[in-house]
Amino acid sequence: MVKKKSTKKTPKVHTNGVFANAMQQLEHAYQYMKVSNDAKETLAKPTRFIEVSIPVRMDDGSLKVFTGYRVQYNDARGPAKGGIRFHPQVDLSEVKALAFWMTIKTAVVNIPFGGGKGGVIVNPKELSKHELERLSRGYIRAVADIIGPDVDIPAPDVYTNPMIMGWMADEYGTIARRYQPAVITGKPLALGGSKGRNEATAKGAFYTLMEAVKVKEMTPAETTVAIQGFGNAGSYLAKMLHEAGFKVVAVSDSKGAVYDKDGLDPFQLAKVKQGKGKLNGVYCEGSVCWGKDHKEISNEKLLELDVDILAPAALENVITKANARKIKAKIVLEVANGPTTPEADTILHKKGVLVIPDVLANAGGVTVSYFEWVQNKQGYYWSEEEVFDKLKELIVPAFHEIYAGMEEHSCLMRDSAFVHAVKRIVEAIEAKGTEDQYKTD
Ligand code: NAD
Repeated sequence: MVKKKSTKKTPKVHTNGVFANAMQQLEHAYQYMKVSNDAKETLAKPTRFIEVSIPVRMDDGSLKVFTGYRVQYNDARGPAKGGIRFHPQVDLSEVKALAFWMTIKTAVVNIPFGGGKGGVIVNPKELSKHELERLSRGYIRAVADIIGPDVDIPAPDVYTNPMIMGWMADEYGTIARRYQPAVITGKPLALGGSKGRNEATAKGAFYTLMEAVKVKEMTPAETTVAIQGFGNAGSYLAKMLHEAGFKVVAVSDSKGAVYDKDGLDPFQLAKVKQGKGKLNGVYCEGSVCWGKDHKEISNEKLLELDVDILAPAALENVITKANARKIKAKIVLEVANGPTTPEADTILHKKGVLVIPDVLANAGGVTVSYFEWVQNKQGYYWSEEEVFDKLKELIVPAFHEIYAGMEEHSCLMRDSAFVHAVKRIVEAIEAKGTEDQYKTD
């Protein structure tokens, strides 16, 4: 499937935000494979998206109407799958991009899902716990007609967590008038969640990084790491790397970053981040910046530190053409979705930086979500060891296939990942044989 680079194609210009970047990545990868125009047309657009208005009765009696989205990008390989983000900067372009990346990601690790994503424009930290529960339930009421265990299965993303997934799964069950745990993953264990789901994204990133470290002949004890974002993905990754002997020298959250050239203790910082309790009963009240004896730096500075490994684990578009030349890391592990813009990708590639793309590096989350869905459907639950063994079985070979494709064709690791994924998606599209519309040239 992987073809030699051709110089003939002029990439299309896409101009609508994060989705434009995602489409540019896809166009870039098309240089290395043969794909029919029909399939390209199909992959250029989401199958379906909706915008919903979610009225929420606030604790003071007033009514606020929030805007939410659900995008189902492509379901050729199975039901749409992807998280729900609660963030003030959510927009349709971002949700479409995230749903597209989910389509690629599920195909990268070869799990039987398509890609979807959802989001609500809200600063959830400004809501009380009851308001947040009403918003979460309201979102599910608004999208209930287009989700379901065999249609579209949401999960957590930025500023959504197991508690919120529990409310959402319960609301869906109320609407469906039956127990339907497989409609949502990332639930609390008490509601059919999977062991290991909380750590899954970080665990997958850890497994891929360990393979990269072996290939690059690096030793953990002599390897420094900076991680942007100390939430579900970033904090567990920091702990895993610390335990494996790496020197985690910088971490950050939305309030800023901390740096210590001798290494930080992520377990201690997790306690600091937790603070004295929980903001509105849901979110960590503290910040990693509240830790003592560490130098405080900015999130921007963290990215440019002289470290071996940089793991962006917060939001998209943080490595751009403006700072890519200043990145000193040898490996960029994309734990966040879309942290590197296409221009920055090219700059990093020319500098010899290995960028382990998001669609592989953070695929542990959706993989264990798949395991949760399987367990819900079977009504039979696995040990944590079994979950992580099965995750490793999928993600380690995916790393090596994609790494080999990259070496063979001197392309970005992202191009190689897209080639592997698009091949699987197009096979499924074409196997459906729908009235000639998806046939190859
Ligand atoms: P989270 O809500 O648990 O944590 C987000 C972290 O980012 C927090 O520490 C927050 O303080 C920090 N942050 C927010 N704004 C920031 C800013 N402007 N600068 C620096 N830090 C900032 O979210 P998460 O689940 O850890 O997700 C993080 C990234 O990982 C996202 O890109 C998400 O799409 C991706 N991801 C998450 C999962 C998952 O299962 N949770 C799976 C795959 C990918």
